[in-house]
Amino acid sequence: HWWDSYVAVNERFAEAAARVAPNGATIWVHDYQLQLVPAMLRSLRSDVKIGFFLHVPFPSQELFLRIPWRVQITQGILAADVVGFQTLVGAQNFRQVAQRLLGCTVRGKVVENAGRSVFVSTFPVGINAAAMKRTASNPATLTRVRELREELGQPQTVLLGVDRLDYTKGIEVRLRAYRELLDEGRIDAEKCVLVQIAEPSRNDVPGYAEIRAQVEQLVGSINGDHGSMSSLAVRYLHQSQTFEELVALYRTADVMLVTPFRDGMNLVAKEFVAANLDHDGVLILSEFAGAAHELSRAVLVNPYDVDGLKDAIELAVNGDRSRHRSDMAVLARVVRRNDARRWADSFLAALDGAA
Ligand code: UDP
Repeated sequence: HWWDSYVAVNERFAEAAARVAPNGATIWVHDYQLQLVPAMLRSLRSDVKIGFFLHVPFPSQELFLRIPWRVQITQGILAADVVGFQTLVGAQNFRQVAQRLLGCTVRGKVVENAGRSVFVSTFPVGINAAAMKRTASNPATLTRVRELREELGQPQTVLLGVDRLDYTKGIEVRLRAYRELLDEGRIDAEKCVLVQIAEPSRNDVPGYAEIRAQVEQLVGSINGDHGSMSSLAVRYLHQSQTFEELVALYRTADVMLVTPFRDGMNLVAKEFVAANLDHDGVLILSEFAGAAHELSRAVLVNPYDVDGLKDAIELAVNGDRSRHRSDMAVLARVVRRNDARRWADSFLAALDGAA
């Protein structure tokens, strides 16, 4: 019944788009919720240009081929003129699936499917880096940064995590690493604090309620063991933050923890880099986030390796953070250059060319 609903919702989107699109229009379809829409649209409207972009990772063929509806999904996506992925690996995986499952011919980035050529490539999504920089240098933000440091008890090191409360984000693994470092006396709760923003997400889905319980149990036990009447080792908020507050948090943080097990891109990593105007922060980034491909000068970690993560956090807290400055400057250039505008322009230019 999940699949039936998926088909019905895709039909509604396709029909609505087909109804309103002018003759010869460009239609850009986004993400895993709408993978059947390109094929449905193509059968309703032969005059339109169709682009499809997947924001989440496209898995390896071994994993993808388990899906009972693999043919429908692959055909659904391949009806687009341009298909975009966040990473080279995602695009490669999809081309391999098209070849193996549908017998398509692949020439470089072009997949030949039933007499049509589909351009399948990588378009890493970016952020509005200019707006981030403007807000980060705003006097109101700087005032808020001073307030936040005060409210946190003027710690030497502020560590920060900002995620939707989702089981792919690796929030529990970073809490566990932080907890073990405190337990082992390798970092000092009097000198550092971990701020974890967990944006409420899909509260009604059982898997999400489970991860929430797990995270909150960990936060409670860390604070129970390492907090005091006047200070907490972890400041945890299960609340959505405004853009301005997030930027102030990014500027307050000395160490940003982005440790997903899997993530299409992870914009939070890019936002932290863009807000870190003095280049004096450290970004600890999971190698399984799409962002790691562009941000390879970050401190890359394997979130399945708690010891490795602990070493990285310990070094960022106790080590000389200024040695990361030149890396942060390189990261900032990458984030500024590959911004959201460039992402959209390059995708739409490819779509224009292909169609
Ligand atoms: N975000 C927000 N308020 C919050 C937490 C996050 O506006 O309280 C924003 C954050 O600035 C970022 C986005 O939500 O732009 C999260 O994007 P990301 O790619 O990191 O993860 P996703 O949630 O898409 O998996």
